[in-house]
Amino acid sequence: MLLHTIDDVRRARKEWKGLTVGLVPTMGALHAGHLSLIKKAKETCDKVIVSVFVNPIQFGPSEDFDKYPRTIEKDYELCKDAGVDIVFAPSPKEMYGEGQRLSNDTLTYVCPPFFYVNKLCGKTRTGHFDGVCTVVLKLFNIAQPDYAFFGQKDAQQAVIIRKMVKDLNIPVEIIQCPIVREESGLALSSRNKYLSEDGKKDALVLSRILNNIKACYSKGITDISALKETAYSYLTDRHDLEYLEILDKNTLEEQEKANNDSIALIACRVENVRLIDNIYLGE
Ligand code: AMP
Repeated sequence: MLLHTIDDVRRARKEWKGLTVGLVPTMGALHAGHLSLIKKAKETCDKVIVSVFVNPIQFGPSEDFDKYPRTIEKDYELCKDAGVDIVFAPSPKEMYGEGQRLSNDTLTYVCPPFFYVNKLCGKTRTGHFDGVCTVVLKLFNIAQPDYAFFGQKDAQQAVIIRKMVKDLNIPVEIIQCPIVREESGLALSSRNKYLSEDGKKDALVLSRILNNIKACYSKGITDISALKETAYSYLTDRHDLEYLEILDKNTLEEQEKANNDSIALIACRVENVRLIDNIYLGE
């Protein structure tokens, strides 16, 4: 079922008394990464709702909101084939009302703690995680899921959502799913569509850097600067590195030395497309 209004989702949700419901929030342009979340949701829950919403309030003014790929017909077919019960594809007006400027001057926002936001993607994407938390809490309130599924691909986002759920006592269990990659190693992303063939080759550097850091850690190197320095031989003038960090995977805290709880995270622009990836060092 493809639904566009909050009332319709609430009505359908009411019919599912006593059944477990899973929510998979997405921005659409679905690929195998999203489908892995849907598969996990199908395995875990009786009913599955996938939201497809390019959320205006999580994009900065100079980001790609207007050109972000929108492929709802194809997304709906993929969801139907995967056995999804409801695809919820609201308009921005349905989610945020008409006529108001989308800002925290006029809308209630959820603001995750500065400690989690003032690093990694949050450093350059001001307000991004406020927009993410706000829309995710709205989707939780609309769909009232027992479980919600997020990808490790957006590791900072997953940590922040867990923190929001804990701090605000939201009755939903967060399930994190591993990163799905192309055979080449490139992490699947809706934004890979922006890359040329050459760009896709250059983009492989992200996963190569991360794999190499993990290999060095496995050989016994735990000094974080030394691990990070191994990246530089991979980077060319076609790579614009935004960050490379090694942090605690649960808390995003800095560590004295890398350990089995460490995560290496990278953001890098290739052909001006901002790509992110990460790897757990301990598994
Ligand atoms: P997005 O549509 O990009 O907002 O992503 C929706 C959800 O899919 C988020 O929880 C992402 O972390 C997850 N996701 C995106 N790409 C991948 C991937 N390659 N592997 C696993 N999960 C992913």
